[in-house]
Amino acid sequence: METKHLEKWKKEMLVCIKCAYCFGDCPIYSQLGWESASARAKMILSYGLLTKGIEYTDSILENFFQCTTCKQCELNCPAKVKILDVIEAARKDLVDNGYCYPAHKLMREVVEKSGNIYGEEKRKKESVQKGAEYALFVGCVGTYREDESIKRTIKLLKKLGVSFTRFDEVCCGGVFPYVGLDNYQKNVQHNKEEIKKTGAKKLLTTCPMCYRTFKNNPEYSDLGVEVVHITQLLNKLNIDVKTDKVVTYHDPCDLGRHLGIYEEPREIIKKFASHFVEMDKNRENAHCCGAGGGVRGAFTRLSINMAKNRLKEALNTKADVLLTECPSCLHNFKNAKKKRQRIQIYNISEYLSILMDRGKKNEDL
Ligand code: SF4
Ligand code: SF4
Repeated sequence: METKHLEKWKKEMLVCIKCAYCFGDCPIYSQLGWESASARAKMILSYGLLTKGIEYTDSILENFFQCTTCKQCELNCPAKVKILDVIEAARKDLVDNGYCYPAHKLMREVVEKSGNIYGEEKRKKESVQKGAEYALFVGCVGTYREDESIKRTIKLLKKLGVSFTRFDEVCCGGVFPYVGLDNYQKNVQHNKEEIKKTGAKKLLTTCPMCYRTFKNNPEYSDLGVEVVHITQLLNKLNIDVKTDKVVTYHDPCDLGRHLGIYEEPREIIKKFASHFVEMDKNRENAHCCGAGGGVRGAFTRLSINMAKNRLKEALNTKADVLLTECPSCLHNFKNAKKKRQRIQIYNISEYLSILMDRGKKNEDL
């Protein structure tokens, strides 16, 4: 097997001191329980593929794609191994050698045809409001799977007087490099042109993965607008509602560990919820919901089981409401929730919109 991408990261594989600190808190290892699922095993296997000591097998393919790219292992690693760069390189080499995971291959095909990861028909062409401050990018999960939540978010933005416009968006392409694919330039070009047409100076995202993509993916480096996550915007606005409910918050991996946005969501929540409780694992130690890194599409059961675990941690706080600000986390939690579990799950912006509609003091929600 050709390993031109892994070649660049050989030093990282050699830096690994095999200490196993990366086992703790890895959501995949917690679920599967065998050592080969760990980051350490992925480093050893990468070295084996690179030095040709190990031949390709289907279980190696499965192993490399069973990672949500949550970054917890990197934080726990005392040798500071760039684990995700190695995993991403291994995935690229596997795909280049013709070993693309079937679910991801299908995703590539449907994005090519429909512009979104689900292959859904475009809902409607958005009309652009010229002169708006923000161009709003919703993303695939928000548009096609959590549209009720997004409708609420949009209602909130209007109510708060935010000047924004929708535009004709397609998938940002953010997930592609993480599953070893690189053919998303058409999407990048389309989004850049449509954002430019709006004339907005800022791009507002609801999805942390889209935010991370527009902010950090080199393909968008000439975007020419400031990229803002909705929690950063909402934290600057006047929030004039209250709830007596006990509220907890789940840090999405893309927003937290990958981008360091921990405080803004908490500051917003504390403005309207006097009973805010943290989960035991919070901020950089927050356990992953299981939706990222292409795992949700390729290993759905495993992904939902990770969400069930995180949901149990939320239930342990005795909170009435679990908030996050990520359509993917929201979607996974909703799929993981059992009917008898009474906790309510929302994005922060969605919950704020509901509170505003039902009055300042909300006991019935
Ligand atoms: S924590 Fe880091 S050094 Fe230790 S086994 Fe895992 S990758 Fe290797
Ligand atoms: S990124 Fe997350 S899922 Fe992947 S190996 Fe590291 S801890 Fe496990």
